[in-house]
Amino acid sequence: MKLGWVCVLILVPPLFVLPAHAEEKMWREHNIAADSLSADERALLEETVRRIGSLPQGEVTMNPSAYYRLSRFKRLFGFRFDGERLKGWLLARMKSVVYGEGWTIAENDHQGNFRLGDRFFKKSDFLERAYCLIHEARHTDGDGFRHVPCPKDHRYVSAGAPGMDLTQNLACDAMEDGAYAFQAAFLFELYARGFEGGERAGLLYNSSLTRIVVSPRADDSAISHR
Ligand SMILES: [Zn+2]
Repeated sequence: MKLGWVCVLILVPPLFVLPAHAEEKMWREHNIAADSLSADERALLEETVRRIGSLPQGEVTMNPSAYYRLSRFKRLFGFRFDGERLKGWLLARMKSVVYGEGWTIAENDHQGNFRLGDRFFKKSDFLERAYCLIHEARHTDGDGFRHVPCPKDHRYVSAGAPGMDLTQNLACDAMEDGAYAFQAAFLFELYARGFEGGERAGLLYNSSLTRIVVSPRADDSAISHR
């Protein structure tokens, strides 16, 4: 909790030098209703979106063959990793943002109406806020790419929410192109380029993949029972 406050204190002060109209511009330009957030919440959200937008394409520093085998960003997002384009992708999927506490760090009602609470504003750093926004934005697409409960034999935990039993919550995806896949693909690119604490991005990437529980196809399951 203390760390979260430290992050807020580090990130927020420079924004106070922005004139009020500059803080509002991003939301007005993209027709996103964020009026009900406090000025500090709006500033932190805007800072997060701007930092996503300023992520450079960069150079891949990880093992090249592993990168090409595992990178799914272009296939999912439709463009090569690029912060500016990713920011546009995100903003196009946000219609409104309100403050609200739920059992997750953030929520999207599948229409682009985001709800963010204290875990987002006070207890998360940039990396956590960024991948959460990417995750939530995917819920605006299609039919919302809804989650399913994790399987009864799921062996993984939510590192950030030890009070949660993942088998009791809609905390997994039964598809390869849902919100956890987009979150994972984003984290993977940060890891591959050594951005934003690459090791942590790698761990969060691994953790995100545990939420994708696509049932094996009949022919695959036959193979696995050999
Ligand atoms: Zn979700």
